[in-house]
Amino acid sequence: MKKTRVKILGIEEDSVLKERKIYVPKDKELKTKITQLHHDVSVAECNGRWKITDLVMRNYWWLGVNKEVRKYVDNCDLYQRMKNRMKMPAGKLMANKVPKKLWTHLMVDFIIKLPLVAEKDTILIVYDRLFKVTHFVTTIEGTAN
Ligand SMILES: [Zn+2]
Repeated sequence: MKKTRVKILGIEEDSVLKERKIYVPKDKELKTKITQLHHDVSVAECNGRWKITDLVMRNYWWLGVNKEVRKYVDNCDLYQRMKNRMKMPAGKLMANKVPKKLWTHLMVDFIIKLPLVAEKDTILIVYDRLFKVTHFVTTIEGTAN
């Protein structure tokens, strides 16, 4: 006897079933909605493609469920930011070399949006790493341009 696809499907109440899972018809909007509901279960983190596929396939089935979930997760902003954690660490932290000459290794920063005093509203900070000397230069914001 030839096994047909129809025999795998069953009908229970209002749903068409395939292997005890609800068969989802070719409705792109519905598939996206189901994926979205399973994706948004956890607000704090993205479970990733395999976990969401597993969650969806516990109750639903359609042709190309993996592809649909992958497409959805690939567009997930949170997942894109989290997946970098899987990478190997960059390596050991290395201390900076001790400078040998004065004014060769500097740190520069600005303190901006200060109240206007003597027509100055910004402080330029220049710090020399060797002698640990700091210079404060008052200036006006935007004078570097
Ligand atoms: Zn996600």
